[in-house]
Amino acid sequence: GEHRHSDFEKIKVLGHGNDGTVYQVRHRRTGSIYALKTLAADDSISRRQIHREIDVLRRTDSPVVVRFHGVISSASGDVSVLLEYMDAGSLESLLMAGNRRPFPEAAIAGIARRVLLGLSYLHSQQIVHRDIKPSNLLVNTAGEIKIADFGVSKIMRRSLDPCVSYVGTCAYMSPERFDPDSYGGNYDAYAADVWSLGLTVLELHLGHFPLLLPGQRPDWATLMCAICFGEPPKLPETASENFRDFIARCLQKESSNRWSVAELLAHPFVAWDQEEADQAFRELLSLPP
Ligand code: ATP
Ligand code: MG
Repeated sequence: GEHRHSDFEKIKVLGHGNDGTVYQVRHRRTGSIYALKTLAADDSISRRQIHREIDVLRRTDSPVVVRFHGVISSASGDVSVLLEYMDAGSLESLLMAGNRRPFPEAAIAGIARRVLLGLSYLHSQQIVHRDIKPSNLLVNTAGEIKIADFGVSKIMRRSLDPCVSYVGTCAYMSPERFDPDSYGGNYDAYAADVWSLGLTVLELHLGHFPLLLPGQRPDWATLMCAICFGEPPKLPETASENFRDFIARCLQKESSNRWSVAELLAHPFVAWDQEEADQAFRELLSLPP
């Protein structure tokens, strides 16, 4: 729908992105609460990003993707996106709130299942997210997890169109996106989201980003070496067999060996008793059963 800035009242800042700010806002007439993602469209890159995000959001309609409620453009050319408000932050903020204490396996299994359902939906719509990471997975006090932030995602025109541009956070980027030529250049673009999911899920267990030591500064060269020349990170022996196998299936350096989203949805780790997994996640959010 069409909205104007004057229809909304800013309540607080929810987060800062690369070149924009996300606010919690209230619709003055109805009192409804939304998130408003603003980007100063002062350069062509961020202008392109916000339009890409709007293009993708318009194509989505799913309970596992943050809902899109419209666009607000101002006379100065700034564009803002009105989104469903997720009142419990992101998996990143949840991890920080617990001082990066590892999440229990049951909760991680439930999270993995929901993110896989989200990716399954996006991939069925020919959308590659390309920036799956804890801060882009949002949470609400209904105990839901939804995929957000489509600023660098790609709508595939053909089913096997290699996307070889350097966009997204390089930390969670798969080996074939770092170095497309040495991986054949003609890989399955959707497999990149599976790599990022593997790293994200592993981080929830380790409490820190898996490719760096706790506290180590993430510079491009260190990450590139770790991703392209190192062995893929693994779970310690203390984790369950199913969990370790799940991570190993996601973190295959050769993208053709990586399991697809459909295969992973049938993995025994994801088959964790759903009620138990949901309960473990609600406890993380300090919600009543
Ligand atoms: P980055 O470059 O850090 O990924 P970005 O500019 O692409 O950020 P988003 O990831 O969409 O922006 O949002 C940044 C942060 O704002 C999120 O990590 C989250 O904490 C908060 N946020 C974004 N959208 C919402 C929402 N719909 N509800 C609640 N909080 C949100
Ligand atoms: Mg983000």
